[in-house]
Amino acid sequence: MSDESALVQLEKVSKVYRMGDVEVHALRHISLSIPRGDFLAIMGASGSGKSTLMNIMGCLDRPTSGHYLLAGRDISALGSGELAEVRNRTLGFVFQNFNLLARTSALENVELPLLYASVSARARHSRATEALQRVGLGDRLHHHPNQMSGGQQQRVAIARALVTSPQIILADEPTGNLDSRTSVEIMSLFQELGRSGITVALVTHEPDIAQFASRVLVMRDGRIVADQRQTPREAIVTAASPEEEEGEGQ
Ligand code: ADP
Ligand code: MG
Repeated sequence: MSDESALVQLEKVSKVYRMGDVEVHALRHISLSIPRGDFLAIMGASGSGKSTLMNIMGCLDRPTSGHYLLAGRDISALGSGELAEVRNRTLGFVFQNFNLLARTSALENVELPLLYASVSARARHSRATEALQRVGLGDRLHHHPNQMSGGQQQRVAIARALVTSPQIILADEPTGNLDSRTSVEIMSLFQELGRSGITVALVTHEPDIAQFASRVLVMRDGRIVADQRQTPREAIVTAASPEEEEGEGQ
């Protein structure tokens, strides 16, 4: 059954990796619908298929069988040019390791996705500045990653995901490298983006993080074994002590 209003729609999606004679069934007949405005946490043990699912939702990989509709368009029917365009217009990515370019300012890191979208230098600069202001880094535009804390680096990465005005943000363990207070800060930011209408799907193995989402999916052996809505806990950022602020840099 197809749901026209869903932003993400997977229909019996399977993914099989072939390694020599061995087949790894990373996803088994996954059907999943993510309506606009969902804040979804994907949980499950290591190897259960979470990253494979995110990669397929992010059009970074194709299903072995089944269908994937993103914003109503069947991804399997698109050529690589069209696919890149849909991806650039619809999706933003955030990773556990931030994936920022070193020796490059926050501003330049955030401008990067716009470079590929052939946006003028002036517009790149103003849009990247705006995105960094939105994540609370308006005063760190010219800092390099090694001059920022882990939490600040993840904010830059979120600004980079936001700068193309995506409809959905896909984040694979975005708090995996952060301490618990900083993790709550990042979840608070995601909740804020959710309130502004952006759909969020994130992978986490921490129940403490999943409680900030409005829907929790649990995967096991390539299958969805639970899918529940919940009242999200509000991520409240507590003030850091001055020592913590200073000592956080890494
Ligand atoms: P998770 O993110 O939940 O830890 P993954 O989606 O990364 O799980 O992996 C699911 C299964 O698919 C695992 O058994 C993993 O070893 C396998 N797998 C993932 N990526 C590849 C790949 N590129 N080639 C072969 N096997 C893979
Ligand atoms: Mg993974």
